Amino acid sequence: MFGREHQTGLQGVSSTSKRKLRREEAVVEGVKRWLGNPISKLTLRLICSRDKHGENRLDIALRRYTGEDVPCNIWDRFTSFLVSLTLEKGSSIFGYSTGDLKKSLRDEIVRRGIINVLEGIARYGVRRPFVSAAPFLVVWNYTTLCNLRCRHCYLRAGSKPAEDELTTEEAKKVVDDLASAGVVAIAFSGGEPLLRKDIFEVAGYAKSKGFYVSLATNGATIIPEVARKVKEVFDYVEISLDGFEETHDQFRGVRGAWRRTCEGIRNCVAEGIDTCVAVTATRYNFEEIPKLIEFAEKELGVHRVIVFNYVPVGRGKDMVEADISPQERQKLLKYLYMRMMGSRMMCYSTAPQYSVVSLELAGSPVVTHFASSGTMRLQGRTKALADFIGGCGAGRLYCGLEPNGDIVPCVFMPIVIGNVRRDRLQDVWHSSELLWELRNRDEIKGCGDCEYRYICGGCRARAYGYFGNVLAPDPACIHNLEYWHQLRHPTPTAKAPSYSGDAGRAAT
Ligand code: SF4
Ligand code: SF4
Repeated sequence: MFGREHQTGLQGVSSTSKRKLRREEAVVEGVKRWLGNPISKLTLRLICSRDKHGENRLDIALRRYTGEDVPCNIWDRFTSFLVSLTLEKGSSIFGYSTGDLKKSLRDEIVRRGIINVLEGIARYGVRRPFVSAAPFLVVWNYTTLCNLRCRHCYLRAGSKPAEDELTTEEAKKVVDDLASAGVVAIAFSGGEPLLRKDIFEVAGYAKSKGFYVSLATNGATIIPEVARKVKEVFDYVEISLDGFEETHDQFRGVRGAWRRTCEGIRNCVAEGIDTCVAVTATRYNFEEIPKLIEFAEKELGVHRVIVFNYVPVGRGKDMVEADISPQERQKLLKYLYMRMMGSRMMCYSTAPQYSVVSLELAGSPVVTHFASSGTMRLQGRTKALADFIGGCGAGRLYCGLEPNGDIVPCVFMPIVIGNVRRDRLQDVWHSSELLWELRNRDEIKGCGDCEYRYICGGCRARAYGYFGNVLAPDPACIHNLEYWHQLRHPTPTAKAPSYSGDAGRAAT
């Protein structure tokens, strides 16, 4: 049950914190103005350009800043000088020591992230919310093969792989393509990715190319020997657990799944893998979630949980009755935030409204989501930063890949915008009309006028699932109650709203 102590807000923010926040807001505003200036943009383009060997100048500059001895020409030296000046200034303003900064910049994943952000600004300008030069994260549905029969499966996965799945060689070429695009992280999902024989080979190849590599699995096959192999390749593992035994097994369609999954989680924790429990919130497990989090922490030993939104897609379309109401979602998100604030347990959610809840409850830190598989979480300490990081990341910071190489804006939004067998991901990312529609929050029905549209924007996959249009309202939100009521209680005069004639991409 949701305890009362989790339903009240924080008791205000101290005046020192408020002063600090105001100072950070001012700095962010200053940086925004500076980056909006044409000369700064030109400088940024120069810094982010490639040398004649195809090496990224910014990467060279960052590596030189950390003390690495990188061969470079006069241009690289000039770029390095500018970058080091900016980093020194920036770190002193935000109160980070240069030692700590250098330490984090030695990590290739951190450098890739910074390059992606700055290239995004150089290419697309200072947008709210921010659009990165390439997806930060690609969630790759690696196969449709699965050993469970989950009621809410977005891929309708089952006992067979799709006939046109990418081969091992093709999959490795995809990894190369994602590397040249500047993608930072790859999450292998499914179906059940561990059932594909080449998963460790291809994920290991991705690791060798410097990606942050994660795994979304049902965990049922993770015996100790598999956990050891997972540890060698993956940086992070997310395992689905939808409730206690009866609820989970009913949901997952296989008796005994709960026990095997719990074993899988324990085996990952025992190996020291960064492990997260993923729960899809429905009316069937809603009341169990607080106890499940307790169980995950105390009995399974994990320190991170992510609560997924139910999205009516794939087999999930056949169970719309399971969706929780906007009020219940609000209650759940508040609970998660307060639960996280009061303990070591990190509690996240894929509901973009989570950032609004965290902003309203505490003002800081603002937790925002952009990944359906939870491999990356961003926190903006100020509203100004949160406006950039910005809630739903579909087509903006993240995209999905299907087992046959189809590119989709989000794995919960099955609209094909290209295929990696014939298209470069980078080209699709830059030119897809649909992605540009998703990047413009001002045109969204029900959210376009909302003050939180940049830090939230609603789940575009839920909008598409319910209304067949990516720019329709997300009926999950307490500010969009009229749409929820129309869906739940259509009257002869008030039909469920249709947006196929409006701006935005409708179902085909
Ligand atoms: S109206 Fe839209 S943008 Fe505003 S809080 Fe609700 S879902 Fe988010
Ligand atoms: S559409 Fe956006 S909010 Fe919804 S699951 Fe995808 S990335 Fe998350």
